[in-house]
Amino acid sequence: MNNHVTVLEIDGNALEHNLTYFKQKLNPKTKVLAVVKAFGYGSDGVQIAKFLEDKVDYYAVAYTHEGIALREAAVKTPILVLHPQIQNLQAIVKYRLEPNLYNFKIFDAFLKLADEAPLMNYPIHIKFNTGLNRLGFWHTDLPKILSELKQTNHIKVQSLFSHLAASEDLEEKDFTTNQINNFAHIVKQFYKHLGYEPMLHILNTSGVVNYPKAQFDMVRIGIGLYGFGNDTKETSALKNTHNLTSIISQIHLIKPGETVGYNRAFVAKEPTKSATIPVGHADGLSRKLGDKKGYVLINNQKAPIIGNVCMDMIMVNVTKIDCKEGDEVIIFNNQEMLQHIANISETIVYETLTAISQRVKKTLKL
Ligand SMILES: *Cc1c(COP(=O)(O)O)cnc(C)c1O
Repeated sequence: MNNHVTVLEIDGNALEHNLTYFKQKLNPKTKVLAVVKAFGYGSDGVQIAKFLEDKVDYYAVAYTHEGIALREAAVKTPILVLHPQIQNLQAIVKYRLEPNLYNFKIFDAFLKLADEAPLMNYPIHIKFNTGLNRLGFWHTDLPKILSELKQTNHIKVQSLFSHLAASEDLEEKDFTTNQINNFAHIVKQFYKHLGYEPMLHILNTSGVVNYPKAQFDMVRIGIGLYGFGNDTKETSALKNTHNLTSIISQIHLIKPGETVGYNRAFVAKEPTKSATIPVGHADGLSRKLGDKKGYVLINNQKAPIIGNVCMDMIMVNVTKIDCKEGDEVIIFNNQEMLQHIANISETIVYETLTAISQRVKKTLKL
C-alpha cells in the first residue's frame, strides 16, 4: 500500500466540469473519447476511467498494458489502443481492447489472428496519416485495405481516424485545414466502397477548441479533461484536476556562509530557515526548478526552492514564513502554478503532468 505523504489528488469535480465544458461545445450527438493514457496524464487512469465510466463513450490508451489495467479494474467502456504492438494482439483480444491498425504489418497480423480464432466482426480502428507523419496508413493504401476488408467478416471497422499535427497553433491553420480536408476525402472513398459507415474522428482537445466544425462523430479529449485548453482563455474556463501536496519533514536554521543541499549550491547570505519536503526529481520535479526558479506554497506564501532539486527531496526557503514540521506544502494546485513549472522546466504542461511518477500516491477526491 502506498502511504506516501506526497499525494497527487485528482479532483473528480474538476474532471466532470471539464468534460461538461467540452460537451457543451459539441453537437449533442458527437461522442466523447476520454484519453487516459500515461496513467491519466500522470495521475491514475484507472481511477479516472472508473469515475467517468457512464459519462464518456470511449477511452483511449497508448499501449496494450494500459488498456489491460482498465479491464482488470472492470472498466466496461470500449477502449481504443492507439499504439498496439504485434506481440500484444492476443492480449488485445483477450481483454476486449480495440486496436488501432495503422500499417499493413499490424493490419495483416490482426486479420490473420481474427481469421484463425475465428473472431466475428471484431471492432478495429484504422488510422490515416494526413500530415503528422507518425502513425497511419497513407491514402494510397486505400484500395488494398478495402479489398482485404471486403473478404472478411472476422473484423469490423469501428472507426476511421487521423491526428492533427498543430491544432493548437492558429498560424498553422492552412496546414490543419488541409489535414482535415484530406481526411474527409479519404473517408468519403472509404464509405463509398465499404458498404457500412464507421465512426470518424480527428480532433484532440485544441482541435475541438479551434476546429469544432471537424468534430465528425467523436472527439478525443486528453489535456482538456485535465484542465488545459492550450490557450489562456480556454484554460481559464477549465478547472485544475491535478493537485500535488506534501508536508514539511524538517526545518533547519542556517547561519550565514553555510550551504544547503548537493554541491553546496545554495549559500546563506543571512540567517536562513529552510524546510525539507519529500518530493524530488524522481517524483517528476525537474532539476531546472532548483536555485530559486521554482517555488511551493506553505501557509499561502511562496517558498522558493533553494539549491539543487534532489532525487527524493527539495529544500525551500521559509525564512519569512510562519511554519513548522508537519505543515502542508502545496507543490501545485492550479493551472498557473503548473504552467510556471512547465515554463521553468523548459517544457509543456503535458510533460510536467506525465512526469509525476508512480511513487507519488494518487487519490481521486470529490
Ligand atoms: C494523446 C492523443 C490525444 C489527446 O490529445 P490532447 O491534446 O491531450 O487532447 C488524441 N489523439 C491521439 C491520437 C493522441 O495520441
